[in-house]
Amino acid sequence: MAPLPKKKHSKKRKKDRASHFGIKNVPLTKCNEPGCDAFIVPHSACPECGVYKSQQILD
Ligand SMILES: [Zn+2]
Repeated sequence: MAPLPKKKHSKKRKKDRASHFGIKNVPLTKCNEPGCDAFIVPHSACPECGVYKSQQILD
């Protein structure tokens, strides 16, 4: 027999649980450039020095 919930969960209970649905963890890494210690979003150019994969992308 499949487990059945004894009581219906209230709207508040559902909404309380849903408060976490929109939260996303963005893992930050450090810039690889020597002399630049900026935290950057992975797989994107560094906003501080504009370098991605050792190539100058931004000015
Ligand atoms: Zn950098």
